[in-house]
Amino acid sequence: MSTDLPTPTANPPKPGALTFSAPKRGKAPRHLADLDPAQRREWVTELGHKPFRADQMSRHYFERLVVDPEQMTDLPAGARGELVSTMLPELLHPVRTLRADDGATLKQVHKLHDGAMVESVLMKYPGRVTMCISSQAGCGMNCPFCATGQAGLTRNLSTAEIVEQVVVAARALRHEEGGETSDEATAKVLRVSNVVFMGMGEALANYKASIGAMRRLVEPSPSGLGMSARGVTMSTVGLVPAIDKLANEGIPVTLALSLHAADDELRDELVPINTRWKVDEALDAAYRYYEKTGRRVSIEYALIRDINDQAWRADLLGEKLRARGQGWVHVNPIPLNPTPGSKWTASRRGVEQQFVERLLAHGIPTTVRDTRGSDIDGACGQLAATV
Ligand code: SAH
Repeated sequence: MSTDLPTPTANPPKPGALTFSAPKRGKAPRHLADLDPAQRREWVTELGHKPFRADQMSRHYFERLVVDPEQMTDLPAGARGELVSTMLPELLHPVRTLRADDGATLKQVHKLHDGAMVESVLMKYPGRVTMCISSQAGCGMNCPFCATGQAGLTRNLSTAEIVEQVVVAARALRHEEGGETSDEATAKVLRVSNVVFMGMGEALANYKASIGAMRRLVEPSPSGLGMSARGVTMSTVGLVPAIDKLANEGIPVTLALSLHAADDELRDELVPINTRWKVDEALDAAYRYYEKTGRRVSIEYALIRDINDQAWRADLLGEKLRARGQGWVHVNPIPLNPTPGSKWTASRRGVEQQFVERLLAHGIPTTVRDTRGSDIDGACGQLAATV
């Protein structure tokens, strides 16, 4: 359906190369969502206003999802425009929205202040809405089957740039479904209930901004959006020290580990970070995360035909997970989504089925992930942000 081609980058990564430090580019303008409530109060005071104005602004942004000064009637008329342009600058400029799955999946392409592009995907299910957000423009982790990884890292996003993706989508959802409502039941359905850090980027390589965003998502208004930590999933290639750090943040979000192979030889190729932290080290860190937070960890495994889908590889994965305990993990096989220039394709149906059955036989709960948005290049690994 889409005719997108990946954006050419100045420095496409060499196979296996890893990029941790993001190129220095113009910093995103400071935004209310970058700050905690105390810092926001300090900021409005510096601007010459009473500290409580910060809470009012925050409620407009996080609760009402409003950024139009005209609608902020509790603020002095003469100050609204200035407060909004200073504290709520436009961070994401909408480029376009693509729809799939009969309108149940929406991919939004945004342009950032410096021209960098990011994408986010909204998926509506009965009774829940899941938002897949980006933490970086591009990605430095260079996984060869992922379109984002192949485009390289453009830059890190700021906390507010990450949060704003959810706010923009939540606002669109509210308008689309017929405006604000006082009906509790309807209001619940219209809310973004789940956020997964599975868009562009490696969130744990942009640790500070991603954790800031995570806090904004779960802290109640006026600090943030008041989502449940259970509804937030942080996905990582397996940056072991960062997983341990995340476990100690005191916010029990779900951890998803992109494993894709349980043997080091293959994983070195599929997930180049494996040359730093091996399969067992990544799994041990994931287990420690479970121990510390009590949250069941999710193992992502893109099933690639004749590459990582053999029965013995399912057994090896099942054994390694089982050896660490019971009830601490579940596996999410993902049928490989096609990406430009990749020679790989998804496993055959029967092979996928067999892979799942073998894991189940090892006592590992396993559910195949749906491939929402694949025809708009909005599915896992297809986000390459083109103009
Ligand atoms: N950097 C994070 C988020 C990546 S996107 C991470 O690596 O976990 C979320 C998931 O989609 C990851 O597990 C990623 O490996 C997977 N993915 C990437 N490309 C894919 C593709 N072409 N088909 C299926 N899954 C893919």
